[in-house]
This record gives sequence, C-alpha cells and structure tokens, in this order.
Amino acid sequence: VFVCFEGGEGAGKSTQSRLLADWLEGEGYSVTRTFEPGDTAVGKRLREIVLDPATGDLSNRTEVLLYAADKAEHVDTVVEPALERGAVVITDRYVDSTLAYQGAGRQVDGRELEAIARWATRDLRPHLTVLLDLAPAEGLGRFEERDRIEGQPVDFHIRVRDSFLTMASAAPEHYLVLDARKPIEEIAEAIRSRVSPMLAQ
Ligand code: C5P
Repeated sequence: VFVCFEGGEGAGKSTQSRLLADWLEGEGYSVTRTFEPGDTAVGKRLREIVLDPATGDLSNRTEVLLYAADKAEHVDTVVEPALERGAVVITDRYVDSTLAYQGAGRQVDGRELEAIARWATRDLRPHLTVLLDLAPAEGLGRFEERDRIEGQPVDFHIRVRDSFLTMASAAPEHYLVLDARKPIEEIAEAIRSRVSPMLAQ
C-alpha cells in the first residue's frame, strides 16, 4: 500500500504522516516513511540546490528536472524496494506537488510536466493521497523561516492550493481531502479510518 501526503506549507503533512506511520507500526505493519525532495543521498543535495535561497533564480525547466531527478532516485531506491518488501509506504509529497508547484505555481506546461514526472516515477501512483488543505495565509504563518519556494508571493501559493484541490476533485476515489485547521487527533482519526480498509485487501 502506497499512501501519499500532499498540501501546502504548514498544513501538518509531516505530523500526520508520522502519526499514521506510528499507528500502522503499532498494528504490526512494516512501514517506510519517506519524503520528497531529499530522502536519498543525491536527493539531499538536489534539495539543497532547489531550496537554498542562495541559489537565486533558476530556469523553470531546470527546477523541473532537478525535482524529477530527486523523484527518479526516490522511486528507484526507496519507494519501489519498500513496496516490493511488502511495506506500507508513506511519502510526504510526490507527483502532485510537482504538478502543483512547478505546474500551477511556476506555470510550466501541465502536460509536459506530467509526462516528465510520470517518466521519473515510472508512473508508480499512490493508492491514496491525503490532501491536507489550508489557506496559504494561514499555513505560511505557522513558521518563520522561508526557503526559495516558501518566499514566493502569496498568489503563487494560492495557485498551488487550487491545483491540489482540482486534482483531488478530478479523482475523488484516490483522495482524502481534509481541513488542516481541524484538531490534529481528529485529522489522524479520519486518515486511519480511510487507510484501515485498504490494508485488509
Ligand atoms: O514539504 P517540504 O516543506 O519539505 O517541501 C520543501 C519545499 O519544497 C517546500 O517549500 C515546497 O514548497 C517545495 N516544493 C516544490 N516543488 C515540489 C516539491 C516541493 O516547490 N515538487
């Protein structure tokens, strides 16, 4: 089972992915919890390049390819091997982040972008994507430091949010959309009830 967490900045993805992983482990499942960008040796270096404000402006196509390289390494060396071992894989961000940030945010052509992201991930798709939805003004207010992307104007983040919501409404059977302002435990419970029947299959 492959579960993905998506959402804007400060929506609580890492908190909720950790709670889900802890619960699954408590139930006896083997779990691999991971994230993009940066959860491989080369990915860590790519993450530094794309997120360090000192990088300055990058061509949009360069940014797309750096994220794509991170994805290829992530899928080939972390996600697929874990799924093959029978682990439940939980990733914090995946292809939808690229479609939202580089597509809607940077306004890179959606079809080209999707082709690149699908190629990089060999079209491996999550069984479920949990979208933690939050207004950017609120999410960005949850922490102070800004990386290259978080420092984008709020309009950028509004396009990103709308893009996530559009993807979710286009394929509701693959998404669980939750209001990230709800209490942490309430969100965690909603996620557990959605994931639980997927494990029995
Ligand atoms: O989720 P996390 O905070 O680790 O994401 C790191 C940063 O990378 C965020 O600022 C996010 O906006 C950005 N990002 C991006 N495009 C992606 C994935 C992440 O701009 N495809």
